[in-house]
Amino acid sequence: MEPLPSLLKSSNGDFVMMEQLKENLAGIHARIAQAAIRSGRRPDDVMLIGVTKYVDAETTLALVDAGCCELGESRPQMLWEKSKTLSSNPIHWHMIGHVQRNKVKRTIECCDLIHSVDSHRLIRAIDDASRQLGTVTRILLEVNVSGESSKQGLTPTEMPQTIELASELDHIAVCGLMAMAGLKGDLNQARREFASLRDLRSELATDCPRDVCLKELSMGMSRDFEVAIEEGATMVRVGSLLFEGV
Ligand SMILES: *Cc1c(COP(=O)(O)O)cnc(C)c1O
Repeated sequence: MEPLPSLLKSSNGDFVMMEQLKENLAGIHARIAQAAIRSGRRPDDVMLIGVTKYVDAETTLALVDAGCCELGESRPQMLWEKSKTLSSNPIHWHMIGHVQRNKVKRTIECCDLIHSVDSHRLIRAIDDASRQLGTVTRILLEVNVSGESSKQGLTPTEMPQTIELASELDHIAVCGLMAMAGLKGDLNQARREFASLRDLRSELATDCPRDVCLKELSMGMSRDFEVAIEEGATMVRVGSLLFEGV
């Protein structure tokens, strides 16, 4: 039997999409590698997180098939839905957007790392829910380095206290810091903001409790990931660039 024209078209479309995704992914990996080498690090030291908030489950799956299995979503509900739909795939999910406290429990059940922990209340809520679930949740602390009031995040001056709080709680594991560059600035401004996150990490690390680790720096998106890597990013969160032309 001849395939229906619509099926033919769709499978051909899938093929084209897949080729485009592979090409985009290869291009981004190459740029990550070059930026890592420029900053005296190994390409493997930087993790690419594919941000899938713009696309449906089907396109998300195509990205996984193209070889990107670290995925980020910025809305809890989307993360829950996609992680369920795609549960048979070897995906590590990253929560990168604001998490309301009533969404904590379901979110920690389906993600590997929460990048966007932006208040003491949220830290306590994650610890509580993790205790109930008998688990330890890995988190990053989001810092507002741009000073823009529209940005989520803890202020740099709150950080010593935040680290102290985190070290008292048994069901969270702080793995590092996260930031977004301000919307208003150019790349030089983004560079200064990323450098300030790295410097803050060094400052905090000098008298950090032994059970708190600040290894990871999650910073950099489509427009500024190379600059972020040059300033020390260990994780970059790239969305729109991945799906260009798809
Ligand atoms: C959307 C989003 C990204 C990806 O942004 P692009 O510019 O599309 O690469 C990264 N981080 C966070 C927190 C986001 O919300």
